[in-house]
Amino acid sequence: MAGIVVIFDFDKTIIDVDSDNWVVDELGANDLFNQLLPTMPWNSLMDRMMKELHTQGKTIEDIEEVLKRVPIHPRIVPAIKSAYALGCDLRVVSDANVFFIETILKHLGIRDCFSEINTNPGYVDEEERLQILPYVDFQTSPHGCNLCPPNMCKGLIVERIQAAMAKEGKKRIIYLGDGIGDFCPSLKLREGDFVMPRKDYPAWNLIKENRTLVKAEVHEWTDGEELEHILLQLINAITIEERQLLSVECKFHTMSKASHGPFPRPLPVPY
Ligand SMILES: [Mg+2]
Ligand SMILES: [Zn+2]
Repeated sequence: MAGIVVIFDFDKTIIDVDSDNWVVDELGANDLFNQLLPTMPWNSLMDRMMKELHTQGKTIEDIEEVLKRVPIHPRIVPAIKSAYALGCDLRVVSDANVFFIETILKHLGIRDCFSEINTNPGYVDEEERLQILPYVDFQTSPHGCNLCPPNMCKGLIVERIQAAMAKEGKKRIIYLGDGIGDFCPSLKLREGDFVMPRKDYPAWNLIKENRTLVKAEVHEWTDGEELEHILLQLINAITIEERQLLSVECKFHTMSKASHGPFPRPLPVPY
């Protein structure tokens, strides 16, 4: 095991577009979406849009069909499979919803590469309509982070992952993302971690403007090919470094044992 947790944002990081916009556009509800956007939070609007589409007679199968042809760079799936094969613990942290993400990841054959999907709940109700709920119930228990949208603070999710990592013996995080919501979690990363913001996207700009606040090493990328190259290079470099550290520790351990006495005490032989 590499002891590395790789955290992926989903929209415009794993897939090349925003899944919410993609579904709304492809099902022809873009005008209504834009009309309602100034009146409610994004996450609530997506639930409302699913209701509207259901009323218009659009089915769950229609939504799945649209999700299955979402644009994705051809090197993303191989990159994810390689990182998984190298022993990394892969997770998704996304402001999309679990229905969209699981449908796409299963279709791509990479759902099982991920140990965790942290996102807004989404389920098909008894009327066969998709319900989308906020990750955090902001009416009753607001998360209190002013950098993030009301329904989700990705920084808090990263802190939860960091706390669990300490117990699991995992040491480093590589975080990949593009959006405004990926800035807060970037600030939670520590020295020895890596952040991979997509070049010229909001997270990249925010990191650039606040360089001194980010403790992680920054590696920008532009497309799936570069993402694959940089991600695998980082994983390999960390793995080599940790192996060297381990062999130094082993040598030290052997030496210190030797100084306390030449041989282990023999077992007493019973008469
Ligand atoms: Mg994104
Ligand atoms: Zn936050």
